[in-house]
Amino acid sequence: SVPLSFFGGIGAASRAGILVKGSSYLEALADTEVIAFDKTGTLTDGTFNVVAIHPRADVDPDAVLSMAAHAEAYSDHPIALSLRSAYTGTIDAARVRDVTEQGGHGVSAMVDEHVVAVGNDKLMSTLGIADWHACTLEGTVLHVALDGAYVGHIVIADLVKEDAAQAIRQLHAAGVNRAVMLTGDREEVAQAVAARLGIDEHRAQLLPQDKVSLVEDLLASTSPKGKLAFVGDGINDAPVLMRADIGIAMGAMGSDAAIEAADIVLMNDRPSNIALAIRIARKTMRIVW
Ligand code: ADP
Ligand code: MG
Repeated sequence: SVPLSFFGGIGAASRAGILVKGSSYLEALADTEVIAFDKTGTLTDGTFNVVAIHPRADVDPDAVLSMAAHAEAYSDHPIALSLRSAYTGTIDAARVRDVTEQGGHGVSAMVDEHVVAVGNDKLMSTLGIADWHACTLEGTVLHVALDGAYVGHIVIADLVKEDAAQAIRQLHAAGVNRAVMLTGDREEVAQAVAARLGIDEHRAQLLPQDKVSLVEDLLASTSPKGKLAFVGDGINDAPVLMRADIGIAMGAMGSDAAIEAADIVLMNDRPSNIALAIRIARKTMRIVW
């Protein structure tokens, strides 16, 4: 049977917009030792602005954005939503078919009679596209290729969530000494976000399966009683959310798959609610024992 005060703890959490799917997660939360975070949509808001378009010399910048926005016509990824809203023309989804979205890489699609690919260095390598280049430091880079030829890249950037730095400080104050960020984005972006937020460790250019194995490594390195929490928002985060001792999902902007796979859901998407949840959990455990 579950002691009554657990219901008190779960109730207090839910009034703060923190949904805990069972008393065992409250108990685990009180012993959090390591927290691993996804970056995009978790620590950052996931709403990207186009910072710059660098087309190949003979290509119009608007054409690069148009190709990208069309190829992304059917994707739910925050990058896709951002590219579609940055494009001021009309997106005719009827022109788009045969879409392949590859986690941690990007998308390929037929737009009219052309194959358009949009994604990172890994996608370009996978497709055997040569001559792509991006020495820029300014943000997340999306390469665009048309019928197997590089046509340029789009630089996009989002903002860290307003409470993200505070969230990391509060976790440190609560004794969580290892805050780790795992991202599929470039090292340059990961480095900048980690430094800005006071994140202790970061790993970049990860595929969804790399995040799973890194979380397994972190699980193996926690103390016998210490728990590992993973916080994420995307479809690709579901396997990691299930592997962690405590999976925490963003509830408002997060994907259904992440919300389903998680043990705890933050209804307002605020990372500072994690430290609050730990405080509630510890208070509850003091009452229980
Ligand atoms: P994160 O780990 O930052 O949450 P993801 O794992 O969702 O990011 O994506 C990692 C990288 O894969 C992105 O930074 C981007 O380069 C590429 N990518 C993923 N999905 C898309 C997409 N729909 N369009 C373009 N690029 C994408
Ligand atoms: Mg994400």
